[in-house]
Amino acid sequence: MSRTIVARISAGALFLAGCWVAYTQTQGKQPPPLTLTKVKEDLYQIVGDGGNVGVYVTSEGVILIDDKYEQDHDGIMAQVKSVTSQPVKYIISTHYHADHSGGNAKFLPTAEIISTANARTAIVEHRQSNAPPGMAAARIVFTQETAVFLGGKEVRARYFGRGHTNGDAIIYFPALKTIHTGDLMAGNTPLIDYPGGGSAVEWTKTLDEAMKLDFDTVIPGHGPVTDKAGLRKYRANVEKLRNRATGLIHEGKSQEEVGKVMTAEFGWAPTGLQMQWSLPGMMTELK
Ligand SMILES: [Zn+2]
Repeated sequence: MSRTIVARISAGALFLAGCWVAYTQTQGKQPPPLTLTKVKEDLYQIVGDGGNVGVYVTSEGVILIDDKYEQDHDGIMAQVKSVTSQPVKYIISTHYHADHSGGNAKFLPTAEIISTANARTAIVEHRQSNAPPGMAAARIVFTQETAVFLGGKEVRARYFGRGHTNGDAIIYFPALKTIHTGDLMAGNTPLIDYPGGGSAVEWTKTLDEAMKLDFDTVIPGHGPVTDKAGLRKYRANVEKLRNRATGLIHEGKSQEEVGKVMTAEFGWAPTGLQMQWSLPGMMTELK
């Protein structure tokens, strides 16, 4: 095995294991420390556990993008308080997974949470096989587009189609030319959540629509802040992976054989979430 492949596998495994391990290993323990970094004027991100949280500060309150796991609530609030005394008024969810929407229950008494209708349904119907108990869904939903106006600032949320799930919102900060992709861009390699309505075929079309927005900065669901070229590269890798898998399936390769190639060439952890959530669905969708 070459070093690059080992590195790729480690990176993929780290991201996938991270989602689950972060939850299971920290129950009853201290959650990992969070850090806040500035992305643009009045826009920050909080990293360290779960998905990347966007923090948009306005003179009338704070708008968060996602709220990590429930265990991260106090850590998120401490980071927000380090840059503003304004209260958190709105949380716009990118999708239903517990590492992005797990904090909903703790924020709902004091903030409005907004998600796609499909993300709400997925939480209500417990679609995530490894989600912790007590997940709370948004009270306000949209199907195509919505926006929040607060303190003279605007944040838009758009649904462009299926990809990671069937309810991924792209969050757009028009004044800052910045988007938060949720897990439509996350780590190095896509996790297609077929039980949650995801699609390898639609994923690239969804990103093509998002790419039409006027932006230069991208906050991904997981991983470092990047730019439009970084998102374009990620999209190309989704297409490459899909084409490779389609070719193998058309050659009559078994699910196990396709899985081995995904591990060797795209960094899928041999027993990770992609093997559970993505591979069986791909065998059907790409045949
Ligand atoms: Zn996710």
